Amino acid sequence: MAFPSAWLDELLHKNDIVSVVSEYVELKPKGRKLWACCPLHGEKTPSFSVSPDKQLFYCFGCHAGGTVIQFVMDMERLTFYEAVQQLAARVNMELPNEINDRELQKQRAYKKRLLEANRDAARYYCRCFVDPEIGKPAREYASRRGLNTEIITQFGIGYAPDTWDSLLKHLKSLNYTEKELIDAGLLVHNSERGTVYDAFRGRLIFPILNVNGSVLGFGARVMGDEKPKYINTGDTPVYNKRNNLYGLNLHKNEKLDDLVMVEGYMDVIGLYKAGVKNAVASLGTALTQQQARLLKRYVEKVYIAYDGDAAGQNAMVRGLDILKAEGLEVRVITFPDDLDPDEYVQIYGKDGFDRLKENALSLNAFKIEAMARNYDLQDENAREQFARHACAFVASLQPIEQERYYRLIGKKTGYPLEALIAQGQRSGGIAPDLSKAPIRGGFRRRAEDGEDSRDVIERTLLLACLKDREALRLCEEKHAAERIKNPTYRALYEAIRTQGTAFSIAKYVGELPDKEAETVSAILREEEATENAVRAAADCLKRLEQENGADEIARLQAELKRPDLTAEERNAVLKEITNRIRANK
Ligand SMILES: [Zn+2]
Repeated sequence: MAFPSAWLDELLHKNDIVSVVSEYVELKPKGRKLWACCPLHGEKTPSFSVSPDKQLFYCFGCHAGGTVIQFVMDMERLTFYEAVQQLAARVNMELPNEINDRELQKQRAYKKRLLEANRDAARYYCRCFVDPEIGKPAREYASRRGLNTEIITQFGIGYAPDTWDSLLKHLKSLNYTEKELIDAGLLVHNSERGTVYDAFRGRLIFPILNVNGSVLGFGARVMGDEKPKYINTGDTPVYNKRNNLYGLNLHKNEKLDDLVMVEGYMDVIGLYKAGVKNAVASLGTALTQQQARLLKRYVEKVYIAYDGDAAGQNAMVRGLDILKAEGLEVRVITFPDDLDPDEYVQIYGKDGFDRLKENALSLNAFKIEAMARNYDLQDENAREQFARHACAFVASLQPIEQERYYRLIGKKTGYPLEALIAQGQRSGGIAPDLSKAPIRGGFRRRAEDGEDSRDVIERTLLLACLKDREALRLCEEKHAAERIKNPTYRALYEAIRTQGTAFSIAKYVGELPDKEAETVSAILREEEATENAVRAAADCLKRLEQENGADEIARLQAELKRPDLTAEERNAVLKEITNRIRANK
């Protein structure tokens, strides 16, 4: 991190979280915390809380949480660096010396220079597009594709003339060096021949903007049948396609219900033109975690609408799990007849698209559909294979979800439901659910739906340690570090333990990456359970021991299912299980 710790301390101290948050929502006190309707996810009953003594916020609805810096990042959709800048300006603090570090300053200035070159290039391409002579082929192509003036302006579409050096000459006249233009990806350097020439020639240009409106790079499309159809700016000091989403800049200040994720420029633009204005493109078929996090800053729900062809479908399956892992609700839109989203809305319009959206598949249903595509379901053997494969998948889901998907498999194969359930059970996907075992030890809060009970316990334990030295001492005595499983929580515990009274939770959270900051801030959820900190800690330690015991029992039960087990080994495992169950009571 670029900021010195003492400076950041002062920044956090001067920007009291209550006063900063109060600039956005009205906070009302209840218990030890202040509450409001969450300004980040929009709701009617308050689940957004601020803890003045810990200087953290946490939303029970959308699970956002962290320090005042994270709050400003989420609220204003800023990077960490930008949020710190804004907070520093708010309290008239000078940015620290480290920012005056010469190397850093040089790098920053260079990036700024490349962004300026990109902006000037984008303007040049736009001018070429409207130029009566030069832009003629581009305008003809655009009108064939139905791109009207409004769309051209909104997306900044331009034209790179079919010459080797027109951009080169233009930008050189604006005093950019060849090196700068090569680094920005605007020129190509052929090292064998020692020549330098325009990267994009005779193509329609789509500038790629970040949410702050800076031009990061370009996509360039041929206007005929040549290959490759698209050329994109590669990795440069200012652009990495893994970190960006095309079209997101149009939604910076909007409250959105959901976003539609498509593959390419023309899908975003085609949908926009048809009235579906909330599409963004991954620009490259495999979604990345960074993109998923970016989406999460805007919406809770994402519709995936990739091409109907096989490549698009397979890319989709990979992307879905990434989105789900970031906590996004995912729905999948499938297009009939191998149409891509742009083609589809041209034929069926926004209404047609909205209908597809209503019928979008859940993640699991989509996976089963995708699986089915790999088999010829008219063939009996293939049908059987598919059913085996799909039942094993369903058996690995949460028990309450299973029936609905067995039904789906039944519909596709014609097998009776009972046979499919039996098949699923045989596949071994269902493990006895020990997390629902009765809880002993007087722990007060039960895990809510979808919440990991172990996480609840670990959070309570940590909050107890933060509140009361005596609780911490008890944890040390009982070697709590060995019992805490979540690595983020274990690291937090170690920090509390080693830093003692000097430990500041707000500062600690301030130095964590977003996701971990949210995880740590979630300990605020357990405020009530830690009313009596020492007792809570004792409860938690006991329960963690039970959880660990239950995990071990589950492992042994899985062991029991191994087909290669001899009778003797089986007895030994059974005995071990019995012992464990007794010990765990
Ligand atoms: Zn929220």
